[in-house]
Amino acid sequence: MKPRIYYTKPSITQLEIQYATDAATGGWGEKCYEYIVRFEEMFKAHLGVQYAIATSSCTGALHMGMAASGVGPGDEVIMADTNWIATASPVVHLGATPIFVDILADSWCLDPCQVEKAVTSRTKAIVAVHLYGNLCNMDRLLAIGEKYGIPIIEDAAEAIGSVYFGKRAGSMGRFGAFSFHGTKTVSTGEGGMFVTNDSQLYERVLTLSNHGRARSQTKQFWPDVVGYKYKMSNIQAAIGCAQMERIDELVTRKREIFFRYTSGLEGLFGLTVNPEPPNTRNGYWMPTVVFSSKIAVSRDVLFKAFQSDNIDGRDFFSPLSTLPMFASQPDNVVAYDLPRRAINLPSYHDLKPEEQERVIACVRSVLHATNNAREKDLP
Ligand SMILES: *Cc1c(COP(=O)(O)O)cnc(C)c1O
Repeated sequence: MKPRIYYTKPSITQLEIQYATDAATGGWGEKCYEYIVRFEEMFKAHLGVQYAIATSSCTGALHMGMAASGVGPGDEVIMADTNWIATASPVVHLGATPIFVDILADSWCLDPCQVEKAVTSRTKAIVAVHLYGNLCNMDRLLAIGEKYGIPIIEDAAEAIGSVYFGKRAGSMGRFGAFSFHGTKTVSTGEGGMFVTNDSQLYERVLTLSNHGRARSQTKQFWPDVVGYKYKMSNIQAAIGCAQMERIDELVTRKREIFFRYTSGLEGLFGLTVNPEPPNTRNGYWMPTVVFSSKIAVSRDVLFKAFQSDNIDGRDFFSPLSTLPMFASQPDNVVAYDLPRRAINLPSYHDLKPEEQERVIACVRSVLHATNNAREKDLP
């Protein structure tokens, strides 16, 4: 059996180990927030935003940001149907309803026309998820938000390293949320970040994040509102600091892996990959191939080929509206169609060139088989 190729795992060097060890050894007492503050400062500088709060997850950052934005019972929050559940669950926890709209066939992100059609008097927010590093059309979404007075939230969990007309993903909306889960480009094991340029929203989330205790409150153990407990630990933040020192290397490597795939798959008929439109840069969190509907290759065929070569494939997200707890939305035709002919390719930092060649050979063999079959079918 050939050695297994995993689709993702974090890149941990001596630097992460050194910082985490330092935090575990001496990062207590008056030093118990040192790495957290440093991590937040580094993240703000990287993103070009004014405020950042480290959290235990992206889900927690979204939950607090939405709560502080006033999302509550009876409200609607518009988001793409193609999505991870973490974007929708905070909406449900707050008593509001996620409204799932279709995606664009090229970016696999929110279709602005469908967003505008879905706006009602109850719409409280629109969440832009930059899927797999691909960027949403932020100009259009921000214009819709402006027109109807609805904030745009950026779920940038998958988009560290992605840049839209000079602005980093996560820095353009009312607030942004990031994930440092073990699968993400920057990882602290579990973790997240809330970012914003809105000072009032920042103060509200800061209070919520501290069990509802306002910064101005002088009484001890005296919450002013019922808040949340979504804090990051100093040890996790220490790992985060090391990752932020290496951020350019981490993103550059993702891009290298992506381009090695595209050059290895060049010239194959019926295949598309993550787009990178003019004036944008894709962080390529998940290099993804989509087989054309005109050819008879499906995700399942490639999955089988991967399995026999001991390679991990990763499912393209199924529409959230196909899950049992939500109403189905079969009119979201792109979201319903893509998963059966799309797959994420392995892309972790330490992936070796020869391992990537194995993945490329697998995709090529599957496509060659059907491209040949297709030619034979021609009259
Ligand atoms: C990973 C991910 C999340 C959740 O991140 P956690 O840190 O696990 O809460 C949210 N949204 C998207 C789009 C993600 O990919």
